[in-house]
Amino acid sequence: MRILIANDDGVLAPGLTALHGALHDYADCVVVAPHEDRSGASSALTLDKPLRPFYLENGFVGLNGTPTDCVHLGVNSLFADSVDMVVSGINLGANLGDDVLYSGTVAAALEGRFLSRPAMAFSLVSRQTDNLPAAAAIARSLVEAHEQLELPPRTILNVNIPNLPLERIKGVVLTRLGHRERAAKPVKWTDPRGKEGYWISVAGDAEDGGEGTDFNAVMQGYVSVTPLRIDKTHYEVFDHLDGWLGNLRMTSDA
Ligand code: MN
Repeated sequence: MRILIANDDGVLAPGLTALHGALHDYADCVVVAPHEDRSGASSALTLDKPLRPFYLENGFVGLNGTPTDCVHLGVNSLFADSVDMVVSGINLGANLGDDVLYSGTVAAALEGRFLSRPAMAFSLVSRQTDNLPAAAAIARSLVEAHEQLELPPRTILNVNIPNLPLERIKGVVLTRLGHRERAAKPVKWTDPRGKEGYWISVAGDAEDGGEGTDFNAVMQGYVSVTPLRIDKTHYEVFDHLDGWLGNLRMTSDA
């Protein structure tokens, strides 16, 4: 089996090395990752310039592109038709609730949705590396367990790991996405030459972090596993919208 490992923190990120270290003796692992931190890139593809892979001494492939570019190129060109599964991370920082909309870590896994085995995205709920070994051990367990897993196509697993040493992690639970409040406002900022700009600010706090959510699980010391799908169609509002559209008047003299 061949696993393609990607991330959004960049090809030099410690979480990528940790994930590769945890998986390299389980499967044939190849690594393709952005040459710089592309956190927040979501599922962007680079369409306005060519992608140029470069090869690091450790065998990892760096790319002047997004996380999605990395998986797209890895699966379709660099390792064409030989990749069975995509694993992404280990991100330093949570990807909970609304974060999955912006996350390059989750996007990299989503780009692996056409493969034979379910893709997984791993995030450690911390900016520090202290508990990366625990997160890597959990990633290894979950990746190994994929052999007993049958999921519908285009389904990926989003895994968030609490910032704890392995012996203090209480277990692994199945969760739904919670929701965040609106993010803090962009921060106005002036550079040393007096030019003004803005920094996008931090994500909002958990608004729905209740029972059953990913937020709740990691807060309680559990690993959170949320299955995600591509289809965002909101089926529950079909009836209401059907009536609304039925009453729509199409006028030519507006
Ligand atoms: Mn990141």
